[in-house]
Amino acid sequence: MIGQRLRALWSASRPVHPDTAAALEARWSELPVTARTAAQLLGRHSTGCEGTHGVFPRCNLTCTPCYHAREANSIRTDADHTVAAVDAQMALLRQQRGTGQHAQLIGGEVTLLGPDGHARALEAMERHGRKPMSMTHGDFDYDYLQRLAIGPDGRRRFALLRFAGHFDSLMLGRRGVARPRCEADLNQARRAFVASFERLRREHGVRFDLAHNMTVTPRNLGQVADVARTAMEMGYGMASFQPAAYVGNPKRWRERYEPITIDRVWTEIERGVGCRLPYSHLQMGDPRCNRSAYGIIAAGRWAPLLDDQDPRDLRVRDLFLDAAGGTDIAKPALVLALMILRIVADRPAVAPTAVGWGWRLARRLGLRRLLCGRPRGMTFVVHAFMDAAVVRPAWEAMERGEVADAPELQAAQERLRSCSYAMAHPDTGRLVPACVQHSVLDPEENLMLRELLPIGPGQ
Ligand code: SF4
Repeated sequence: MIGQRLRALWSASRPVHPDTAAALEARWSELPVTARTAAQLLGRHSTGCEGTHGVFPRCNLTCTPCYHAREANSIRTDADHTVAAVDAQMALLRQQRGTGQHAQLIGGEVTLLGPDGHARALEAMERHGRKPMSMTHGDFDYDYLQRLAIGPDGRRRFALLRFAGHFDSLMLGRRGVARPRCEADLNQARRAFVASFERLRREHGVRFDLAHNMTVTPRNLGQVADVARTAMEMGYGMASFQPAAYVGNPKRWRERYEPITIDRVWTEIERGVGCRLPYSHLQMGDPRCNRSAYGIIAAGRWAPLLDDQDPRDLRVRDLFLDAAGGTDIAKPALVLALMILRIVADRPAVAPTAVGWGWRLARRLGLRRLLCGRPRGMTFVVHAFMDAAVVRPAWEAMERGEVADAPELQAAQERLRSCSYAMAHPDTGRLVPACVQHSVLDPEENLMLRELLPIGPGQ
């Protein structure tokens, strides 16, 4: 019995699961040579983010713009369909991408599933070694959250819930703020969202990890700084901004279409945070798709985990990615401690390097802030999807094994090859970039789902 337990502990404390190590290696070898830089995290730290598709396309808000295909709202939300489809998609991701990866439970509005269906979908994702995050507009009551976290038998179903709340003034129909005039009109809803999770933790001990999402168009670009500051102050662990791409239902575009660059959004985020946000030393996939700044906030001040201008920090990055890049640290304390010991035993240079890095981080934040300022992780992200008009021809050419001639299509193909956000198709055994899913596959998939799950009278 003791021997069995020790063996289980030894196996759980492996820094990287062998399947994940193999998936990382495969991902790295698939990347275009130009993407295999010292900063690249794909294939060294992560196999990429994952998301569901075709599992609950319907939504009860009307966003302008909306990435969903025109038919999405004529499909019934059906928990049995959701759970079966999520289960099959996650099984394929587990097979091809190993364990411990972040996966978004995404489609239309997840809370239309009802708390039990939602819980079953999250459980299926966890069973396949995913770290699920529910993507929602956040317009639900505490009662829903409580019934999601606590089963009908009164027992806690989850120790930790990860949610991303999408709040921006382009969304119409939210209770109490049906037609926001500006981003600040939504601050009460943003705060109430966090407050529900704080209450859940207080009353039931369920921890949380919350992200804040916002779509950016020329209309609200000037308010990004305020939203970044607000999300930081309210207790979100991530603030993610998506410049709107021309995808989805064309009827949902109300304003003149004008692409917004990642640089413009980043400048606004930096204005809100009040400091430079270093990003080029840690890259997930292609820099035209993603930009992230990973840091810690304490007593209202943000500092980067690694300073891109300090060569010592760049050495920390290199050593970490070599020694423990694929490590999943979301483990119980004892397992984590043993895992760290194993990493240090294997690469003793890690210990003094980590001490030096910790000291520099403490100085950047301020020792007093670190000790008394309730430090927590805070990441800023911009994810720029591509327009359907370039994704479709670029993908079709890739499917024929061709490199496109037009420079903008070639650029799209490079981005699709380094994609960091995949969706699984169990029927074909393939993973496809989310851009391809939304721009090429969603419309047809939704037509099929409309036949399979028609909306009944009164729904
Ligand atoms: S989904 Fe599209 S924008 Fe996002 S990483 Fe993949 S290719 Fe880039």
